Amino acid sequence: MFKTLSKMLFPEGIKCIICDGELDAERFGGVCARCELKQNDRFCDKCGRALKTQAKYCAPCQSVRQNFEVVRAPFVYEGEVKHLIYRLKYGNNRFLAQYMAQFMAKTAVDSELTADFIAFVPLFPCKKKRRGYNQAELLAKEVGRLTDVPVADVLDKVKETKNTARMRKYQRIDLLKNSLAVIPGIDFAGKAVLLVDDVFTTGTTANECAGLLLAAGAERVSVLTFATSKAFIKVADMDFAGTLKQEKGKRKKSIFDKRGKLL
Ligand SMILES: [Zn+2]
Ligand SMILES: [Zn+2]
Repeated sequence: MFKTLSKMLFPEGIKCIICDGELDAERFGGVCARCELKQNDRFCDKCGRALKTQAKYCAPCQSVRQNFEVVRAPFVYEGEVKHLIYRLKYGNNRFLAQYMAQFMAKTAVDSELTADFIAFVPLFPCKKKRRGYNQAELLAKEVGRLTDVPVADVLDKVKETKNTARMRKYQRIDLLKNSLAVIPGIDFAGKAVLLVDDVFTTGTTANECAGLLLAAGAERVSVLTFATSKAFIKVADMDFAGTLKQEKGKRKKSIFDKRGKLL
């Protein structure tokens, strides 16, 4: 499926989305061989953040229970990857979403994520109007198209929040609380949700969104982003597998097959 799709997306003469150089029509994700992005292959099993060691979980995930099930992302938030996200957000380069989402859809399939529908982190309406689009929504729609999983607009940003990246954790949580809401009248009962955003750094937004979806009746929420930041490891890396409550009971069948098709 991905092969056919990449042919559709790469007509003659298309350029590499990173260096603007000539691109082989078969190149996945619109990135040429020279610019090939290194996949994040060592990450926390819970929050998906890059780890330096073979530990199963990063330090925060060993002690804090999160609302989301897992976070998965193809890349680490640094270098060209960071630049791509920046360009998607601020340069009106909405075309990038279709290429970036190819990597995300592949990660969703490879990680065997399951979902009844895809949701996305909302933008405050004024901000969306200024930017012209919500980059998380663009990515979600492309991932949905590639995997045949429906995308639903279920979350609302009801209050504008300043950039929270440099704030202390409790300040971020305080600010985000009450700034997000689930759109009323949607039946989430028993639904598995895949929440899409461009990047997962502090995790506060994704965690708040997941909490709201769970409170509204969703069975579980997984998160898919283009990149995750590096985990900050202060405690000795150990395998704390036993301390995290793994969801027990019925094992859900994946809704994606190996080619990314909905089963
Ligand atoms: Zn290139
Ligand atoms: Zn973690």
